[in-house]
Amino acid sequence: MILTAEAPAARKETMAFIDQQHQLLIDGQWQPAASGKTFEVKNPANEQTLAQVAEGDRADIDLAVKAARRAFESGPWPQMTPSQRGQLIWKLADMLEQNVEEFAEIESLDNGKPKVVAAAADIPLAVDLFRYMAGWTTKLEGNTLPISVPYLPDAEFHSFTLREPVGVVGQIIPWNFPLLMAAWKLGPALATGCTVVLKVAEETPLSALRLGHLIQEAGFPPGVVNIVTGFGETAGAALAAHPDVDKVAFTGSTEVGKLIVKAAGESNLKKVTLELGGKSPNIVLPDADLSAAIPGAANAIFFNHGQCCCAGSRLFVHQSQFDEVVEGVAEQARQINLGPGMDPQCGMGPMVSQIQQERVCGYMDAGLNAGAQAVVGGKRADRDGYFVEPTILVNTQPEMSVIQEEIFGPVVAAVPFDDPEQIVAEANDSIYGLAAAVWTRDISRGHKIAKRLRAGNVWVNCYNIFDAALPFGGYKQSGWGREMGHAALDLYTETKAVTVQL
Ligand code: ADP
Repeated sequence: MILTAEAPAARKETMAFIDQQHQLLIDGQWQPAASGKTFEVKNPANEQTLAQVAEGDRADIDLAVKAARRAFESGPWPQMTPSQRGQLIWKLADMLEQNVEEFAEIESLDNGKPKVVAAAADIPLAVDLFRYMAGWTTKLEGNTLPISVPYLPDAEFHSFTLREPVGVVGQIIPWNFPLLMAAWKLGPALATGCTVVLKVAEETPLSALRLGHLIQEAGFPPGVVNIVTGFGETAGAALAAHPDVDKVAFTGSTEVGKLIVKAAGESNLKKVTLELGGKSPNIVLPDADLSAAIPGAANAIFFNHGQCCCAGSRLFVHQSQFDEVVEGVAEQARQINLGPGMDPQCGMGPMVSQIQQERVCGYMDAGLNAGAQAVVGGKRADRDGYFVEPTILVNTQPEMSVIQEEIFGPVVAAVPFDDPEQIVAEANDSIYGLAAAVWTRDISRGHKIAKRLRAGNVWVNCYNIFDAALPFGGYKQSGWGREMGHAALDLYTETKAVTVQL
C-alpha cells in the first residue's frame, strides 16, 4: 500500500454545483426542508465540509409522497404511452452520459472512491441501466389464459392479465455506489410507470441531487421523481412507515432491512424489496489458474474499498496453494495507491465516513485480539481522511466476528481447506447469501459448485461482474427480490387478472 499525495481539484463546473445550497426535489420544485434545517456533508479524503444539504424529515416525506401520489393518479405521467416513457428514460441516460466527468468528480469527492473508477464503472453502469430499462417500457406484457370454471360448464370467458405499476414507491439507498444505486432503483420504477420518493444516504446525497436536475431537464412531469435528503432514523423511517406508499425498496444493512419490514408491516403492509448485506465466499480450487484467481481475489475484496455488499470477504484456498495465493493477494494490496479519489493514480480512497472507518477498524481489532494475524494491513492508515489499510487476515476461527459478520471494508479473511468436497458447505455456512465465486480450470466442476452455492449471484473464474440484464439480489438474510434484469420489473408491477364473460 502506497500513500499518494494530495489530489488535483475538481473542475469549476463541478464545484459550482457542489457549492450550491442543496434543497429537496418535491413536486418538480427545489425547496428547503419544512423545518429549515440543513446538515453538512464531508469529503472523506480530508474530513473537510464539502456541502450543506437540506435535512428533510417526516413532514417533507409526507409532502413528497402526496406529490408522488398526485403524479401517479393524474397529470401527464399516467397518460404517457410506454414508448414516450421509454424515450424519457433514454434521454436521461444520454444526459448522464454527457456529464460523466462531472458525476465522477461528485462521486469521488462525496464518497471517496477513485474518480477514474467512477468514470469507468459507476456512471457507465447507471447509463446502461437506464437504457436497458427504457427498452422494457414497451414490453411489459400480460398473458391470455384459457380458463375452465368447472362450476359454470356452459359459460364462455375471455381472460387475460395486465401488468400495472405498483404505485407510489419509496426507495431508500446507501452510500457505497450513490448514483448507481439511484439508477438501480429509479430505472425499473420509471419503466413500469410508478412514481418515486427517493431517500438518498446522508453521507452521499450529491450525485442523486445532480441527477434530480437532469430528471427535470429531461422533462419528467413534476412529482414523478421526488428526492428527499435527510437521515435514516427520521426521513428514511417516515418513508418506510408512510401509509400511502405502495412499496418500499431498500438497499443497506440487514439490521435496517429488518426495521423496514417491521415499519411496512405495522403501517399498511406495503410491498417490500430488500438488497442487504453479505459475507461472500470466494473459493480457489487446487486446479485454479492462479494468474487469474489472485488478482480476482484482490478485486473481490478491494474493489470500492470493500464497501460492496457482494465483497468476497471470505477467501477459501486449497492448502496446497494457500501461501502462494495469500502472498499474491498481499502483494496486490501492497501495490494499491491509497489516497484521495481525485488523484488519477488512486487505487483505493478513504472509507466513506469516520463511523465506517471506526467500524472497520473495530472488526480488525476484534479479529487480531482473538488470535487472527494480519499478513498485510490491519489498521487505519496514518494520514488525514478516513483511510483504512487493505488487509488480509489469516489464522481466523469460524466463530470470529471477522468470519461471521459483514465488515464492509477492505478486509478479507483467508482460510485454508483440505477437502474440495466439503468446502461448499463451509462457504454456505453464513446467514447471508448474496454472492459467491469459484476459481477452477474444470468447468464442469465449476458449474456443479455454482449450483450448490446458496447465493443470488455466482461467478466462476471472475468476480464483480455486473450488468443491467443480470438480476442481482440475495438468498437468506441478504434480501428479498432482485434488482436489475427483468426480474426487477416483476417487483414494480401488480398482475391484474381480467375476465370477460362472452
Ligand atoms: P450503513 O449502516 O452502512 O450506513 P444503513 O443500512 O444504515 O447502512 O443505511 C442505508 C440507508 O438506509 C441510508 O439511506 C440510511 O439513511 C437509511 N436508514 C438508516 N436507518 C434507517 C431506518 N431506521 N429507517 C429507514 N431508513 C434508514
